[in-house]
Amino acid sequence: MLKTFSKGGVHPPEEKMSASAAISILPIPNEVFIPISQHIGAPSEPVVAKGDKVKVGDVIAKSTGFVSANIHSSVSGTVVAIESVVDASGYPRQAVKIAVEGDEWRAEIERSSNFIKAGNLSSKEILDIIQASGIVGLGGATFPSHVKLSVPPGKKAEALIINGVECEPYLTSDHRLMLEKGHEVLEGARLLMNALGVSKAYVGIESNKPDAITHLKTLVKNYEGIEIVPLKVKYPQGGEKQLIKAVIGREVPSGGLPIDVGAVVHNVGTAFAVYEAVVKHKPLFERVVTVTGKSVNNPRNFMVRVGTPVSNLIDAIGGMPEDTGKIISGGPMMGKALNNLNAPVTKGTSGILLVPEKLSRRPQEAVCIRCSKCVSACPMGLEPYLLIKLSKRSLYERMEVERVLDCMECGSCSFTCPANLPLLDYIRLGKGAVAKMIRNRKK
Ligand code: SF4
Ligand code: SF4
Repeated sequence: MLKTFSKGGVHPPEEKMSASAAISILPIPNEVFIPISQHIGAPSEPVVAKGDKVKVGDVIAKSTGFVSANIHSSVSGTVVAIESVVDASGYPRQAVKIAVEGDEWRAEIERSSNFIKAGNLSSKEILDIIQASGIVGLGGATFPSHVKLSVPPGKKAEALIINGVECEPYLTSDHRLMLEKGHEVLEGARLLMNALGVSKAYVGIESNKPDAITHLKTLVKNYEGIEIVPLKVKYPQGGEKQLIKAVIGREVPSGGLPIDVGAVVHNVGTAFAVYEAVVKHKPLFERVVTVTGKSVNNPRNFMVRVGTPVSNLIDAIGGMPEDTGKIISGGPMMGKALNNLNAPVTKGTSGILLVPEKLSRRPQEAVCIRCSKCVSACPMGLEPYLLIKLSKRSLYERMEVERVLDCMECGSCSFTCPANLPLLDYIRLGKGAVAKMIRNRKK
């Protein structure tokens, strides 16, 4: 029987219509807006000014602390402004605006697509390259990768888990990466194992990607200590805690971190970025993005330079279908609705989903019938029906006691609710208020 996590989870209908679309390169836009905060942690500090010339791969903003990441130029050209742009979250963020001129890369970046095996580097050397290259978690969480790889004193990493699950129903960027860059992903995993000093790694892949499982099982014969683990299809298996439970059977405690049970999780996209940084000297300035939707004629997977406006991706699939009612950055379960098509693609953008009008309308809310379906669906063992009540009444101390901060915002509760209650929306609001309350308490 296929492995999976034990608590909660749902089965949204699968809509992976872009799965057979090979990754193609999106044309470089005329100008890019590269936000200086594309990661969890402190925003970076711009090191360029208006009028500066930059090449592809130049550092344009430096990290300002340990939990922060460098930002590199994805294009060559002239910095025309450092100004505020509204990003996919709907908030204004400082960004470096660059007018594109040609496509001149830093000389040390190896541009051929040949697979090259990495040399023997020490753990410290690999970590330093990852940190300098601005690599963050590409599954969407955007946690700076060097932080996850720096095991705190008193803890011990025992296993690396590579997340190839891609449980969001529409996304296929990781799937394509495993199929087209399998060698590179495994070599990246090997580098991550060396950085952590572990001898065991697992690549977890849901069984709805049988071609990726077969392909990586063939390639992995050349890699000692790496195992491919097919998993049952169940959302949100891509969550770190759920993946750890599914793959190695260990339970991360409430409020704890994967390292508390000896695990470190990185996405397949991150493993690929690590390979490119270490072997090809290429910092993180582009990523694979799925552009898809039920009315999209030609759903695609693109390699996109960071800072490219979302409108360019929509143009590349032949324009927005007439019946589009909503555009989501990310997948339908965890993604956020976009209110601005000029929002730039960032390191965390995994997909752009165009939702037809008839599917984007919110169904009429009814009253809670206390069916407890949301409780059964919650992978974190929370009581969503109670959390929404507390959030509506601003009872944040009680929300803290009810472990709202454990909510991973997977949306399984909203998905399963027969009363169509926007559970996650209220829980998010409450979570933000509780986090603020805790910050104030510490002051
Ligand atoms: S699933 Fe919806 S209706 Fe059922 S208990 Fe939860 S909130 Fe109430
Ligand atoms: S309460 Fe949070 S973790 Fe639980 S199902 Fe809802 S969104 Fe997911």
